[in-house]
Amino acid sequence: MTRIVQSRAELRAALDGRAKVAFVPTMGALHAGHVSLLETARPLGDALVASIFVNPTQFGEGEDFEDYPRTLEADLAQCEAAGVDIVFCPTVETVYPTGLGDITVQPGRLGSILEGAARPTHFAGVLTVVAKLFGLVRPAVAVFGEKDYQQLVLIRQMAAELCLDVEVLGSPTAREGDGLAMSSRNVYLTPEDRARAAALPQALRAAVEASPRGAEAVLESAQRVLAEAGIDPDYLVLADRDLGPATPGDEARLLVAARIGRPRLIDNTALHLGTGS
Ligand code: AMP
Repeated sequence: MTRIVQSRAELRAALDGRAKVAFVPTMGALHAGHVSLLETARPLGDALVASIFVNPTQFGEGEDFEDYPRTLEADLAQCEAAGVDIVFCPTVETVYPTGLGDITVQPGRLGSILEGAARPTHFAGVLTVVAKLFGLVRPAVAVFGEKDYQQLVLIRQMAAELCLDVEVLGSPTAREGDGLAMSSRNVYLTPEDRARAAALPQALRAAVEASPRGAEAVLESAQRVLAEAGIDPDYLVLADRDLGPATPGDEARLLVAARIGRPRLIDNTALHLGTGS
């Protein structure tokens, strides 16, 4: 039986006696990507907690906070089906009882590149709410999607640097049949843009194929696929696993962001970078 709790006191009572909590934070509008995180987390604790909270502080001015898809009934049914023990769906006042932000978590250097360059206040909002949720839920382990790769790296770094005593795990990106990464924002795509968006995962696949030939080949092959689809990316960047400079001969990450019609979509892939010789 899934328990649905809204207040801090209800959450505390529901967590009472749970030795090891596995936690999946979400903003709702759940899809198969979120469900895959729940499935990853399920065996890792004696209680599985999901949160559903559209966090105002991670949306910038003019972004889609008001219109962000909210599908609570369907979300709760999916949590129930996935065997979630406790769903925490707090109000904004419950999470931010003293207002939206005197004390915040600042992401530092990594928070100002890639997504942070386009959305300067985004990661401070994300880290602040995740720190609060960790404090409320007190998980032993928390699972985040590789889909939001920079977010995953930053949360892992926050947990380590602030000694939050939670293991942060990444879980692979769930994709549609044509490879498009599942996202709550895909509902904003028109049918034409939805078809064009398949070029993002195609570009990543082309890059993986080119990866034995080195960094230049990786970037060129991905760029070519995007250009053929008429997509001019916000960024297409090759980095190492911690988002530092990529090293030939080592594991790397290729990250892309592009506005396709209304939504700005992001995706990434792991690859092994050849030396290009
Ligand atoms: P969101 O509700 O978009 O804030 O996402 C909640 C969690 O689900 C985050 O850890 C995301 O990285 C993860 N997530 C979102 N989309 C996917 C996906 N397609 N595959 C795997 N995880 C995802």
